[in-house]
Amino acid sequence: MKLPFAEPYRIKMVETIKKSTKEDRIKWITEAKFNLFKLKSEQVFIDLLTDSGTGAMSDKQWSEIMLGDESYAGASSYYKMKDAIQDITGFEHFLPTHQGRAAENVLFSVLIKQGDIVPGNSHFDTTKGHIEYRKAHAVDCTIDEAFETTNPHPFKGNIDLNKLEKVLSENPKEKIPAVIVTVTCNTSGGQPVSLENIKAVKKMADSYGIPVLFDSARFAENAYFIKLREKAYADKSIREIVSEMFAHADMMTMSSKKDAIVNMGGFIGFRDEELFRRCSVFNIVFEGYITYGGMSGRDMNALAQGLYEGTEFDYLESRIKQVEYLGQKLNENGIPIQLPIGGHAIFIDALQFLPHVPREQFVAQTLGIELYVESGIRGVEIGTLLADRDPITRENRYPKLELLRLAIPRRVYTQNHIDYTAAALIQLFQKREAYKTGYSIKYEAPIMRHFTVELEKI
Ligand SMILES: *Cc1c(COP(=O)(O)O)cnc(C)c1O
Repeated sequence: MKLPFAEPYRIKMVETIKKSTKEDRIKWITEAKFNLFKLKSEQVFIDLLTDSGTGAMSDKQWSEIMLGDESYAGASSYYKMKDAIQDITGFEHFLPTHQGRAAENVLFSVLIKQGDIVPGNSHFDTTKGHIEYRKAHAVDCTIDEAFETTNPHPFKGNIDLNKLEKVLSENPKEKIPAVIVTVTCNTSGGQPVSLENIKAVKKMADSYGIPVLFDSARFAENAYFIKLREKAYADKSIREIVSEMFAHADMMTMSSKKDAIVNMGGFIGFRDEELFRRCSVFNIVFEGYITYGGMSGRDMNALAQGLYEGTEFDYLESRIKQVEYLGQKLNENGIPIQLPIGGHAIFIDALQFLPHVPREQFVAQTLGIELYVESGIRGVEIGTLLADRDPITRENRYPKLELLRLAIPRRVYTQNHIDYTAAALIQLFQKREAYKTGYSIKYEAPIMRHFTVELEKI
């Protein structure tokens, strides 16, 4: 018999979390204007809002915290981070930033101008936000299979080369600052991009003289999927695959809150020294001097250590298998989820889960609220609220999918927490016919409304 997977770590410190009653939760979510972001964390029992910055650091990372060099310029922590980035990604130049979107802000300040067109695979919301804020356009070139929730395609993050070629050939080169490849593709469900696709995208972009940018938050999880699903790479180590992936990128932005397993931090990686110099000016204006850019020395140390831990096979296996375990339990019980199961989260198809709730009443948000009320579990809507309004027509943009995401923090929850989560969803699914109405908007911000939106029960 093959032994089951088990976590390659044990627990040295615990943090208490509290259960609550359904009455408590109804009161709290009403006070939070039915916005899950507005709940206090102590009102949540199992927090699956995001896997961003919510991971547990290791004893080695905590030791690195003590070794942090807090010098303003030229800190040893900066060099530790530089060495780790170069070692793992191969990028020679880098700028630290306080998180991923700050990396986008600095890089795009140089790269993107009004009227530009930025093709990619389902751009992440902050990426799209930074593009649209500059009055440029993000064009989604993800393969069509990504939008069929049960299509078992192994690389649903892939870019459709025909769609990309159309954008590249129909627009002047000056209007396309980069092709963005998001690994893994967060918006389409934590789905990986194959190395075959990465290579083909790079080749096509090269032929048009356009650089390739990796939005790299979950690059290690992407490498794990390549190892498992792409034959040619079965015998390569995660680090070898990571190196090969990044060899096909001209620049990278990183949210270190994901695969570098730290609570805060990010960076930009460059090959082109001139671009690095131009971005340094914006880094100094927005983030901080180029050897700390919004991070303390101790955090740069922990990040460097996290890059090594996050690219170890045993760690990645236990992380991704935990997500898969939850997905399998839901799937076995008939709950409609996106397949194959992605790297960091389970995505529940809310339109199928709550078929009677009208589309204009925010179906995935409704499911998220009901799950919280029933169980104290917090997920997040990846649907119409997130998709926001069209910047020109101001109409609601209805995405192809209406999803409730349950993101699993790294090294944080036990298998019992996962079992509790599955049981809560199965119970809710059994009484799904009872849910007929959703919510309407009382207040929304002009961009990225989902963070602060206020809702009313219909
Ligand atoms: C999280 C994320 C970002 C933004 O990073 P932050 O650290 O949250 O600012 C950008 N792109 C992708 C793919 C992400 O997952």
